[in-house]
Amino acid sequence: MAKKKKTTNIEIRPNFMWFWGVIILGIIGYSLFAEGRSVPVAADWNTVEQMILKGEVERIKVINKDEAEVYLTDQAIEQYHNAEEGNRFKRIPEYGKQLTFTIGSVDILDRDVKQAVADSGLENNPVSIEYNNEKHGWTDILFNLLPWVFLIGIWFLFIRGMSRGAGGAGGGIMNVGKARAQEFDKDDPNKRVTFKDVAGLAEAKTEIMEIVDFLRNSQKYKDLGAKIPKGALLVGPPGTGKTLLAKAVAGEANVPFLSISGSDFVEMFVGVGASRVRDLFEQAKKKAPCIVFIDEIDAIGRARGKNAGFSGNDERENTLNQMLTEMDGFQTNTGVIVLAATNRADILDKALMRAGRFDRQIDVGLPDVNEREEIFNVHLRNIKMDKNIDRKFLARQTPGFSGADIANICNEAALIAARKNKKLVERDDFMAAIDRVVGGLEKRNKPMSKAERRATAIHEAGHATVMWMLKECDPVLKVTVIPRGNSLGATWSVPDEERVHVTNEVMEAKLAGLLGGRIAEEVNYGTLGAGALSDLERSTKMTYAMVAYYGMSKKIGPISYYDSTGTRDTFTKPYSEQLATEIDQEVRRILDDAYNKARTLIEQYNDKINQMADMLLEKETIYSEDIETILGPSAQSLEEKEEQAPREETPEKVETEVKVEK
Ligand code: ADP
Ligand code: ZN
Repeated sequence: MAKKKKTTNIEIRPNFMWFWGVIILGIIGYSLFAEGRSVPVAADWNTVEQMILKGEVERIKVINKDEAEVYLTDQAIEQYHNAEEGNRFKRIPEYGKQLTFTIGSVDILDRDVKQAVADSGLENNPVSIEYNNEKHGWTDILFNLLPWVFLIGIWFLFIRGMSRGAGGAGGGIMNVGKARAQEFDKDDPNKRVTFKDVAGLAEAKTEIMEIVDFLRNSQKYKDLGAKIPKGALLVGPPGTGKTLLAKAVAGEANVPFLSISGSDFVEMFVGVGASRVRDLFEQAKKKAPCIVFIDEIDAIGRARGKNAGFSGNDERENTLNQMLTEMDGFQTNTGVIVLAATNRADILDKALMRAGRFDRQIDVGLPDVNEREEIFNVHLRNIKMDKNIDRKFLARQTPGFSGADIANICNEAALIAARKNKKLVERDDFMAAIDRVVGGLEKRNKPMSKAERRATAIHEAGHATVMWMLKECDPVLKVTVIPRGNSLGATWSVPDEERVHVTNEVMEAKLAGLLGGRIAEEVNYGTLGAGALSDLERSTKMTYAMVAYYGMSKKIGPISYYDSTGTRDTFTKPYSEQLATEIDQEVRRILDDAYNKARTLIEQYNDKINQMADMLLEKETIYSEDIETILGPSAQSLEEKEEQAPREETPEKVETEVKVEK
């Protein structure tokens, strides 16, 4: 799809290319001209001596005591010009010096010339010698400078190319500090993106709808004295529709959309990033109300000061500081709203997320099976396809795919059908397209085989079941097998707010819950997968904390080696070797107990776990209501039936992570 783009940058740019053109032309012209006029022949003393003997030399001019210029008599010049083709001196210059040669010493030259004159036996051999201390002429200077001129010229060309290539400011070195945002035509109804084009993402849409309303009815908010938000951060993996969503906001509100990538601010020149930020906001203010979209904001927004000392970071820091200043600087009611996208909110500088900056964070996750169906619907709108193809089927075939992947599949399928000269896109074209896209995905987003997906579902069902059955565990909220980042699936629970007092029983139950995933795999497959790495890491750390920090082991007693000052060096342990061994033994015992507790539960409910895994494979995300239909009421709900305080805390999750390199 060809997008109509135009740069918003309309200032006239001083173009320095003509300057270099003139210089280069001049140099070429001069050297051509000089070539035609006179190039003295390089000779040596012997040749010159022969000429003196024949009486052809009129005078010799010694320059700076080391070079001699030979001027011949007019007859001699004419004679040489008339000589037959091939004579070395046929093309000696008519005017000026005809030969040059290098001399060793002036005295010897003087002596040799006199000798030659004498030897010639001619009566009026005209040779005279002049001595001259010549400064270099301007031509010499020019020729010496030539390589430099060329080098500098090439350097400028190179830099121009660089700034273009980086997608930054085009149009020459003078323009390097200009932000070259792309603007999409809001008035072209064919190009306008609206919420209709964005499938799924229901939560993100409702959140962002607010911004649309701000832009549409800003007067209403201004009258009330409300502050319009300045920015929102869209967080999610690549291709999930962050850009699309931002464009849809602009489309819905019918305001201009300025888009720029964070990496455009990163240049090799000091100060360029900051100046581009300034320029971007300048442009935005002129167009207000409008949406500024900054893709890949992590390119500049990475937390500052982590590698202090590497000067490369200073530039990015300056750029970030400028961005913060600009966001603080513009009035809340100018109508410029900045949307930024990243797939890693965790590495962003906290300052970016402070109030009045990107204080809203909108999650844009990978679509689940229903959302994928909707995305297929959007992208199949214009594709002529076999009426019998079930979109639900397509959605089920594409777990873990992003919206961009699905758009890609639809297009590929049409291409494949066209190659086969079909009138309609058929089911096997879609299957071929999926295979092709999976092949392309392999590096980025590891596709899972059916067996792997089932193992993940069993694993998550294991966590969920143990947590469901132990009343000390936090209530399970939802379980998903949608891959996200490094994790293949996750079980979410809500921390119980009334449980301020964490006891050893609570921690032991948590341990069992953490181990549940791996045990479910073990029970069902008999194999130990590497997918439980983060579960094991968490449970091991937690157990060590129980024993060595919280004093929860009766055997070790109420002793804590926790260091709240953080000043203890990490190499020496504050306890003896023997105590270390005892701590290890206690950790092992607690973990074994938790393991046994979880294993008993899992063996008891294994049928239900398999049932839950089937449900997970079908729905991809299941909620506590779904779990209840399988396992009955949870242990937590049985315990406190009447108290139903609404829970407003952020859910915690247990993730299945795979970090094993293939
Ligand atoms: P991101 O900015 O998150 O990397 P984009 O917004 O650039 O992703 O998405 C790339 C393309 O993928 C879009 O142009 C669109 O065709 C398709 N796409 C992604 N998500 C969706 C969605 N939720 N609904 C419809 N199309 C989508
Ligand atoms: Zn797990």
